Amino acid sequence: MERLAICSKLFYDRDVIEKHKKILELEKQIDNLKNELKEPRSFFHSRDQWDFFKQVMYDDIKETIERCIFNDHEYDHMEWIGLTPIQEIQIGGCIEKHLVRLTEQKIWPDRIAHDVIMYSLKAMFESLHSTNQWMYIYHTMSRSELADMIYKHITWLLDDETHSPNILEKIPIFECKQCQEETDFINEKDICVVCEYENGI
Ligand SMILES: [Zn+2]
Repeated sequence: MERLAICSKLFYDRDVIEKHKKILELEKQIDNLKNELKEPRSFFHSRDQWDFFKQVMYDDIKETIERCIFNDHEYDHMEWIGLTPIQEIQIGGCIEKHLVRLTEQKIWPDRIAHDVIMYSLKAMFESLHSTNQWMYIYHTMSRSELADMIYKHITWLLDDETHSPNILEKIPIFECKQCQEETDFINEKDICVVCEYENGI
């Protein structure tokens, strides 16, 4: 009887330990998902560093769009379908790659690149199709102008510094050179709004 009790206790303990391990594993997965769903933040030492990051990203997006439009096969298909599936994958993939580099996350960049930006671009082409404007645009605009139209659409959504809100404006965190506090916004001298107001810098 005593042996049976020891044996049952052993199995019971093992079961509790396994369940406890499983709970810890699930809690970790929930924390990871919570982090992925939060709007990400990323630290930059200066405004120049942030501007440089954006410039590298935008240059790559521009080159990718031009490569897609100057590809004869894709350009020919554009006449009938607007944005082609290959163009969608390549441009969306390029945006996602830079957003992953910026945030070190996967879910947010994937959602922004494909469900927000590329979906918006597709909506623009669909509206041009449904109002019978696309044929006119395709035959009157040059390839460079078409590429520029797509580039402007994407960078307007991301942040072209002409309007707020936009997708990227809440991502960078800076350290004010004057008070060393972390802040969402610094001026061209890397000073926060409070120090700018108080010291007139
Ligand atoms: Zn400050």
